[in-house]
Amino acid sequence: MTGSKPDVIVGAGVAGLTLADRLAASGGRVVVLERENSPGGLARSFRIDDFIFDIGPHRFHTSDSVVEEFVLEVLAGSYEVIPRASSVYLRGRYHSWPLSLSGLAKLPLGMLIGSVPDLLFRRRGGGESSFADHIVSRYGRNLFSFFFEGYTAKFTGLPSENLHVDWAAAGVDRAVIDKRVKADSLNALLRGMLFPSPVSTTFIYPSRGGIADFSYRLVRRVEAAGGTVRTASEADGLLLEGARMAGVRLSTGEEIEAQRVFWSAPITRLSPGSGLSFINTVLVCVALRKPARGDYQWCYFGEQDISFSRTSIPARFSASTVPAGAGSIIAEITCSNQDEAWRDPDSLVPRVLEDLERVGALRHADVLFARALRVPESYPLYTLDYRERLDSIDLPAGVIPIGRCGTFWYNNMDHSISQALARAGGRDIPREFWNTRGKDVRELPQSAH
Ligand SMILES: Cc1cc2nc3c(=O)[nH]c(=O)nc-3n(C[C@H](O)[C@H](O)[C@H](O)COP(=O)(O)OP(=O)(O)OC[C@H]3O[C@@H](n4cnc5c(N)ncnc54)[C@H](O)[C@@H]3O)c2cc1C
Repeated sequence: MTGSKPDVIVGAGVAGLTLADRLAASGGRVVVLERENSPGGLARSFRIDDFIFDIGPHRFHTSDSVVEEFVLEVLAGSYEVIPRASSVYLRGRYHSWPLSLSGLAKLPLGMLIGSVPDLLFRRRGGGESSFADHIVSRYGRNLFSFFFEGYTAKFTGLPSENLHVDWAAAGVDRAVIDKRVKADSLNALLRGMLFPSPVSTTFIYPSRGGIADFSYRLVRRVEAAGGTVRTASEADGLLLEGARMAGVRLSTGEEIEAQRVFWSAPITRLSPGSGLSFINTVLVCVALRKPARGDYQWCYFGEQDISFSRTSIPARFSASTVPAGAGSIIAEITCSNQDEAWRDPDSLVPRVLEDLERVGALRHADVLFARALRVPESYPLYTLDYRERLDSIDLPAGVIPIGRCGTFWYNNMDHSISQALARAGGRDIPREFWNTRGKDVRELPQSAH
């Protein structure tokens, strides 16, 4: 595998760095190119004064023992295991999330009257093509109109009917409604309501440095094994020799020859005509004199008159993210390149602070500073025709897409790590490991490598 030319990995997110780590450990020559000034990609962290902000809530949670072993090995004992506590804000009240049976019982009466029979007598899903059809068939029209419809339009900028059903497999079915709600008899449903058992999900979070600690550790491992990680180095495109990739051209004009290119940057950069697009996120990071109010790690806000779609409280992931006695909160606003929020993120800050106070998350008097940060390409947008568009991408031989933006899969970190481990072992990555519906095994746009 080793030759005079290195393997070039574009993107120092968890996928690119995991792959670099494994290739370098087995003696390969590796160069990682990262556009930003620091590693981690979507799992990077921002330090502002003594506060550490991740890109919204970020924690390790996986059912894949190989991935878990790798994560724990990299963190080398410097992590905490934390019980999950997430919330949803509905009509002026906080409810536990995933919606549990006892949580459903606390919904407004009109809502409850509709949604419980919906859940009991719902038809089994299958064969739906849009997100809207899937959610209605799985969770009922009441829950759909009460929460999913508005939240999804606010989050994606598209009506649910225009989103592919994969948006549900990726973003909703993975973790939204407590599995116990799937109780199939009235008896089971009542038992669950009267004697709810606690949700016992736990997750892993680095003890220091925010979620980016994982990536910094990987950078050190790659460098110790002889690899190179270059930040502030944006790949602009590929060098070609006929139909084959010969290397990478940087935006500075520098050219690097490569044996193989693993591409974890947005696939749209290699195929601007594909018609695929991503959703961006603006983070409003707020530092507080006092701990943030709220007993959750993150909370969803579906209502249209609230400017953000989710908040998270860094100290509930690790106390090391804030100075002693202080607090912080992060609000996420998703948007497209054309939106005012993206073009002028600072203009959002006063409205976000006002809304945070209105939902009881902070008191204005406690705010030390509030900073808006732009995170491009944070979610692949699954329009109805996205699969055809993805399949139409024809990459030159020698280019292998990986990671969330490279494969256009709505990965969590564990999926990106799993993809990278597979590629390092010379294996392809079937879509089934990611698709919770588990029916549809698809291959990536492949190239010879
Ligand atoms: C708000 C939010 C919350 C999340 N919460 C969780 C969570 O709790 N748990 C979880 O497991 N996952 C979570 N995720 C998903 C997780 O962040 C991603 O799955 C993971 O970080 C993706 O890693 P990656 O390496 O595949 O891609 P990325 O992180 O996107 O890495 C791609 C890298 O390529 C770089 N790049 C882009 N263009 C270029 C270029 N032209 N040249 C060079 N470099 C370039 C980027 O800067 C980036 O560093 C969350 C995501 C978001 C947006």
